[in-house]
Amino acid sequence: MTKKTTNPRVSAMLKEFGTSIKTVIAQEGKHATYEWLDNRARDQSGIRLPKASLSRLLNGVSEPDWSMVAQILRLCDVEKTEIAAVWHPKWKNLIERIRVVEMTEQIAPTQAIQECPICGSAVLNQARHDEFHANIDARLRRNGLRIAG
Ligand SMILES: [Zn+2]
Repeated sequence: MTKKTTNPRVSAMLKEFGTSIKTVIAQEGKHATYEWLDNRARDQSGIRLPKASLSRLLNGVSEPDWSMVAQILRLCDVEKTEIAAVWHPKWKNLIERIRVVEMTEQIAPTQAIQECPICGSAVLNQARHDEFHANIDARLRRNGLRIAG
């Protein structure tokens, strides 16, 4: 289990994933409670599944660990081949989509990317870009050249 998310888009994706795992657990029947899963995990592999961790995964509170997802699926008798062919890509896709959301939201909100009127570059950091031009201008002037703009 990793960090808790506060991003609503990420949260919706995590909830959707958690629900799909809940559906698999529910197919085991009414006895498939958190305790049943934890006991079964202890009996089969010695690796515990604490209620708090399970709850975070199933309710989409934090990003799921693959090892834990795979463990739950195995405990619910999902075939190894199905875990590899269906569930692992599904989990990987979830993580990738989360990274994309995080990246776009890191860049986008505060300032739009501007095109530099002098050189046409996409400028992310205006101060650094101005410094870059000032250095180039100084160098060109020393060499008796001038840059437009
Ligand atoms: Zn420029």
